[in-house]
Amino acid sequence: MTAISIPFANSYAALPDRFFVRQAPDPVRAPALIRLNRPLCDLLGLDADALSSDEGAAIFAGNAVPEGAEPIAQAYAGHQFGGWVPQLGDGRAVLLGEVVGTDGLRRDVQLKGSGRTPFSRGGDGRAALGPVLREYVVSEAMHALGVPTTRALAAVTTGQDVIREGYLPGAVLTRVAQSHVRVGTFQYFAARRDEEALRTLADYVIDRHYPEAARADNPYTALLAAVVARQAGLVAKWFGLGFIHGVMNTDNTSVAGETIDYGPCAFMDIYHPGTVFSSIDHGGRYAFANQPSILQWNLAQLAQCLMPLIDPDGDKALALAQAEVDAYPAAFEAALIAEFRAKLGLATAQDDDLSLATDLLACMAEGEADFTNTFRYLANRIEADPADDTDPASLFNNPDAFEAWAARWRARLSEDGRAADACAAALRDKNPAVIPRNHLVEAAIRAAEDNGDFAPFNALVEEVLRPYATRPAGSRYVRPPAPDEVVQQTFCGT
Ligand code: AMP
Ligand code: MG
Repeated sequence: MTAISIPFANSYAALPDRFFVRQAPDPVRAPALIRLNRPLCDLLGLDADALSSDEGAAIFAGNAVPEGAEPIAQAYAGHQFGGWVPQLGDGRAVLLGEVVGTDGLRRDVQLKGSGRTPFSRGGDGRAALGPVLREYVVSEAMHALGVPTTRALAAVTTGQDVIREGYLPGAVLTRVAQSHVRVGTFQYFAARRDEEALRTLADYVIDRHYPEAARADNPYTALLAAVVARQAGLVAKWFGLGFIHGVMNTDNTSVAGETIDYGPCAFMDIYHPGTVFSSIDHGGRYAFANQPSILQWNLAQLAQCLMPLIDPDGDKALALAQAEVDAYPAAFEAALIAEFRAKLGLATAQDDDLSLATDLLACMAEGEADFTNTFRYLANRIEADPADDTDPASLFNNPDAFEAWAARWRARLSEDGRAADACAAALRDKNPAVIPRNHLVEAAIRAAEDNGDFAPFNALVEEVLRPYATRPAGSRYVRPPAPDEVVQQTFCGT
């Protein structure tokens, strides 16, 4: 027990016993705070000053369990790379409890890397420092970029090594999420033909995330429709940022529609639709451009789980569930068009806006252009930014092809009729200057792991929290990696 109080208001721990296992975090040798997310503390109504102490570090390491916490490891199953695993569950995480924030929203507070649980299988229940830092910086960047995501409340070192490809320093991430219910949570009960638990879970999710579904004629079809819509919007946002999740297994697909379980994820530098970073994604199943269709596959798994609730008549249930999954491609395309219209500075809609965007992407792939900077520097064609007036054509190996595209874009913009300053401002508000580039993340991890130096990590976090501010031309946070800095592969570190 500790004197620091966290206003827990737990609901998941009140669900039936078979939803989780009660499991205290396993204390570590020497907890030390790496970073505390003060704005997130404020949102959750937590005392950041009190938490940025040794006592806070003890909480975030799992050495002290605050009053009101009811630590549990949640049960779930999932398809991993398409292969069915009937039992996964929190093997290296515990949910401390839930907190209702100052915005009225209920959120989970979870320790990741907090020791073994009954779901650990062969694993050690721990997390290495590198993946903890990666998840911290990438999830907070995603939040700053307006992408629904789990958040990072704190990171601590443990003073204990973990054994991976050698000895690595261990760490614990405190993760905050709208919930940790996954498609795989539904699969866990569906596979056990436990319809009562499925209904309890579905009602819980409706109550917590989709209360309007409760008023629909068929709440479970409405639940499915709502998850489909949120997930379609989510993947469209990933697409607009060149983000590759890397492990889109059904257990890593949140029913609340947040990006979750950052493993070997990365943002692309040079645009190519087939880009894969994950060291474990041998077939390229989760390559950048496959993400929308993989998500549909994951949503089909959820639909199948919900069928017994949707209608007792199997044929009727199938037709209703199928209709919701079939709505996904159009929902995704609509979200994608909206995303890219904004990225191209368009305020109005025309039929071939999507092909204008996809033609630019094709030109970028052909010309090996940097994804983030191409979109960022488009604004310089409207009104040059005095701090960094780099011309987008300079990013292309095929500048003539880019110019042909740019002429079409300018013609389309003039039909749009927006004033130049408003258009340039809209472009810079939508297209970030700074994302957590993979080589910068790796450099931050190297400094922390090799020298215990967290300055590069902290500096990178500060930068990604202001993604839309122009940096001086040539800033290391804006510059793509030099050939010898390119990171070819990222690792889960599990
Ligand atoms: P993830 O790669 O985080 O999506 O995890 C997939 C599954 O493996 C989940 O059930 C995790 O709890 C489990 N897992 C991952 N790493 C470990 C670990 N170090 N110890 C125990 N279980 C783990
Ligand atoms: Mg996972």
